[in-house]
Amino acid sequence: MATEFAHPLFRSVGRGLAQKCPACGQGRLFGRYLKVEPNCRRCEHDLSVYRADDGPAYLTILLVGHLVVAPLLLFPVVWEASPLVVLPIVLGWLTLVTLTVLPRIKGGWIGLMYSLQVTDRDDRLHAADAAD
Ligand SMILES: [Zn+2]
Repeated sequence: MATEFAHPLFRSVGRGLAQKCPACGQGRLFGRYLKVEPNCRRCEHDLSVYRADDGPAYLTILLVGHLVVAPLLLFPVVWEASPLVVLPIVLGWLTLVTLTVLPRIKGGWIGLMYSLQVTDRDDRLHAADAAD
């Protein structure tokens, strides 16, 4: 079964990664740090139907863990220097990277949901609940 995209995948995800409305690419996606605008101020597209939930947080942890933490452990200075010096520096950088990446991942996630037309009203999301 092939996946059908209601809207172009890369354009929608790219607009989301840029934290713009996936429909028009002009309006802001977030009103505050991670708070999605209920409607796009440019095209009035209803953005409140795309509930990202915990997906962006899991993906951010996965990416930061594999692309930042794992390579960081290859540097001997991390193991040889005093933990009192290394931990504040490493944890500070990890916090900064995570907080910088998270809204972009969430935007891309919402762009993916827009492309697939997965909304909070989609019966496919609730199929597992119905099986219980
Ligand atoms: Zn828009």
